Amino acid sequence: MSKTTVEDIEVNGKKVLLRADFNVPLNINTGAISDDSRIRASLPTIKYLVDHKAKVILCSHLGRPRGRVVENLRMAPIAQRLSQLMGLPVSTASDCVGQEVESKVGTLKEGDILVLENPRFHPEEEADDANFARKLARLADIYVNDAFGTAHRAHASTVGVAKYLPAVAGFLMKKELEVMERLLHNPERPLACLIGGAKVSDKIELLQNMLRRVDMLLVGGGMAATFLKTQGYEVGYSLTEDDKLGLAKKLLQEAEEWKMPFLLPIDAVVAEEIKAGAPTRVVPTTNIPSGSHIVDIGPQSIELFYSELRKCRTITWNGPMGIYEIPQFAQGTRSIASFLSTLNATTIIGGGSSAEIVQEMGLTDKMTHVSTGGGASLRFLEGVTLPGVEVLLDKK
Ligand code: ADP
Ligand code: MG
Repeated sequence: MSKTTVEDIEVNGKKVLLRADFNVPLNINTGAISDDSRIRASLPTIKYLVDHKAKVILCSHLGRPRGRVVENLRMAPIAQRLSQLMGLPVSTASDCVGQEVESKVGTLKEGDILVLENPRFHPEEEADDANFARKLARLADIYVNDAFGTAHRAHASTVGVAKYLPAVAGFLMKKELEVMERLLHNPERPLACLIGGAKVSDKIELLQNMLRRVDMLLVGGGMAATFLKTQGYEVGYSLTEDDKLGLAKKLLQEAEEWKMPFLLPIDAVVAEEIKAGAPTRVVPTTNIPSGSHIVDIGPQSIELFYSELRKCRTITWNGPMGIYEIPQFAQGTRSIASFLSTLNATTIIGGGSSAEIVQEMGLTDKMTHVSTGGGASLRFLEGVTLPGVEVLLDKK
């Protein structure tokens, strides 16, 4: 990796502002943390800083308060969970900038941990306001960015602040970047890209960028319908993006010119209604009934995808194969997740929903890497330089 990391800089006795990604899912009814993976993923950097006698000032957003104080998006429960996981006391601040926080920071001793209040309570955070960034920077001597999941956003705590402090990457950031860089520039081949999810338009840049780099492209999920339609097949009520038909055709043609296998589902699970309990049928994708929706890939497609993916040394997966939120339509997605977990190949899971499914099925440890940043990993695979990474110091 070309960026300086926390190991390349002296942190002993220094005040370190650590931008972490503690944006965990909260239970809508109780407000409790429903999955603390992101907090756990931040622990190596926090432990390193504590062990190396830094004064650790943590900053992370939580949810989308849109520039005002939202009581149930305060950081206190996160600090509490962090304290449990670290086995150390963790203090909190009533804000992330200003006099009171500055004096609190002044009392920190080596190895102490302070969690700042949600920076998105201030509209200046998402606006990447320079004055606000300067106020954040005033709290510390060094800035460490470990928030890969927010690195695609140019906000004050991810980009602005790096202009005023020496800025380096944390261990999670380093790991995510190493995996993604390897995937793009030096993967073990054959390399397959398996894409699903709702819309072609969400992943068009990803498809375009990866088409040139992969040895095989497999498309399932809702977006497959647009590709089927552009080949002249009936897709019934399936969601398609008719303004993307030309582009879908172009991608298929490009793949053909380069003799790059571009696999679409050969059969599908269809239902007349998208709801739990709806009767379903399995049909060939050349024969989708006009009154039905494609809700999942079918068993023959699953077998086809298995047999192709088995040939690959590296597989990146982004997006579910069906409307997995309804258990009846989740078979394709769950089968693919289980299958990938058994392979002796490099398996990289990006995409929020795909990562969530893998996590929920308890397969995270059986994959090579499950990204903590759905949006950020998507941007990365599109070939975009992430602003939160760009501002970090280059390795000499
Ligand atoms: P990820 O977060 O993994 O990148 P996306 O956000 O692109 O995935 O897409 C996830 C959504 O795609 C899910 O809500 C799922 O219901 C939807 N989806 C998958 N297959 C279909 C389908 N056949 N029809 C409609 N929606 C689908
Ligand atoms: Mg998503």
